[in-house]
Amino acid sequence: MELVFATNNAHKVKEIQAILGDEFRLLSLKDIACEEDIPEEQETLEGNASQKAFYVYDKYGYNCFADDTGLEIEALNGEPGVYSARYAGEEKNSEANMQKVLDKLKKINDRKARFRTVISLVVNGEEVLFEGIVNGEILQERRGGAGFGYDPIFRPDGKDQSFAEMELSEKNKISHRGRAVQKLVEHLKGTEHKSL
Ligand code: IMP
Repeated sequence: MELVFATNNAHKVKEIQAILGDEFRLLSLKDIACEEDIPEEQETLEGNASQKAFYVYDKYGYNCFADDTGLEIEALNGEPGVYSARYAGEEKNSEANMQKVLDKLKKINDRKARFRTVISLVVNGEEVLFEGIVNGEILQERRGGAGFGYDPIFRPDGKDQSFAEMELSEKNKISHRGRAVQKLVEHLKGTEHKSL
């Protein structure tokens, strides 16, 4: 059966397709000729994931899932949260975003933070939400050259390395997105013989 993943990131589609196996055929936005920017105007990760998944379902008629992720820093009352991509401005500059976080935490001892991913799955108009969380801390300075976004300044609990110092496979095992995807996949595999 066919299922759209509302993303333009071909790498993400490939990765989840490999986990799902042959029973599911994952389609990207490109595959369904959805070329416009899908609105993400909500104030929560849940709201944005949901808005994206329903947009595709309502407009294109495909069952669909969409994800949204944020870095939530305790001492900053959950900032940057839903604004993670554009914390330091609309140009979505990871370096500037990290610098803003480091500056704001300069005199703060509590550096607890977490990444949180929410996935909204819409099948036949019914929505199910999945959440993945990884707890950790914001480092004093950038470490490592792998990954993207805030990876160089985030160290997950129980590890000595930042996300940017880890192999991707190692990060995926414990990451927010990895955990949310795992729940999605378990759900889909459990429903694969029903009327998706
Ligand atoms: P998205 O919802 O996956 O597009 O993520 C929103 C923003 O959160 C990204 O632009 C990044 O700044 C940040 N982000 C999401 N996932 C990660 C991650 O795994 N590592 C570091 N930053 C991330």
